[in-house]
Amino acid sequence: MEDKKPDIQRLMALEDSEWQKVERDFCGRLLSYALRRTGDHQAAEDIVQETMLGAVRGIGDFDRQYTFEQYIFGICRNRTIDHLRRRRTMTIQEGKDEDGMPGMEALARNTETPSAIIRGKELSGHAREILGDVLRDWVDETWEQNEFVRLMVIEAIFSGGWRNRDTWKRFELRDETAVAGIKFRALKRLRQLIAVRESGSDVLPVIEAAAEAGEAGVFDVDIQAIWLERRVSCPARHWLARLLSGTLDAKAAEFVRFHVEEMKCQWCRASLDDLQRADREGDLDELLQRVRDSTSRYLRSRTIGRQ
Ligand SMILES: [Zn+2]
Repeated sequence: MEDKKPDIQRLMALEDSEWQKVERDFCGRLLSYALRRTGDHQAAEDIVQETMLGAVRGIGDFDRQYTFEQYIFGICRNRTIDHLRRRRTMTIQEGKDEDGMPGMEALARNTETPSAIIRGKELSGHAREILGDVLRDWVDETWEQNEFVRLMVIEAIFSGGWRNRDTWKRFELRDETAVAGIKFRALKRLRQLIAVRESGSDVLPVIEAAAEAGEAGVFDVDIQAIWLERRVSCPARHWLARLLSGTLDAKAAEFVRFHVEEMKCQWCRASLDDLQRADREGDLDELLQRVRDSTSRYLRSRTIGRQ
């Protein structure tokens, strides 16, 4: 399910050609994302430019636990939130209380920075990494087995926080116990996947707690946070392209539509927008040039004088 990834080593070495590739691959998607969130084309272009510069500046601290895509979209999300916050500050009336505001920022944070709203017990970084890995493994194998209803049910529960009774109705399952059964088997499989990993025992309690939460449908929020943060179920870009061209298998297509429309995955939505825009050639040229100018200026300033 993976796309071809940029070469982190070369990016860290500030190689201009590798950064150019990143610009071509990501600007369109980042623009789509920022545009959807802000509804302002000029602001969205600014955000893309700032994101790309931020990515170049921060690459030295790149955490290999994440993919480059997660890294750059994370920066884009933060820049977008900053923009929305600034805009809100500018429009807010004087004297209004800053604290109890369920405004733009709170909204953005609730829907998009699950890691910032973790309420449950904190997992260690390493345990989070393991849990993210096994969730991905589980999604991959479920995808390969063509079990898309199972995949949707688990995403709805783990990531969407749906309750059993809503889930069985949506997927036209026999009854709630069918949902409980799917959940039970998925948790069992996750336990197996965890058990074969080194230091997997740190993670098992989370799965046990999730299993016990059962009926109420309440999960330790860590699973939801990790699911979203690691983009556990996001299909690779070529699957999205096939969805648009109508060549994706019907069951997989149903899953991707569910993921984008009902789970409201903004990253995949942005990729779809970008793929659709790719048909209208030349649309991005100006933005790409602008990003290119600022990025290469920065790269030159950092690499001149180096050996
Ligand atoms: Zn997605």
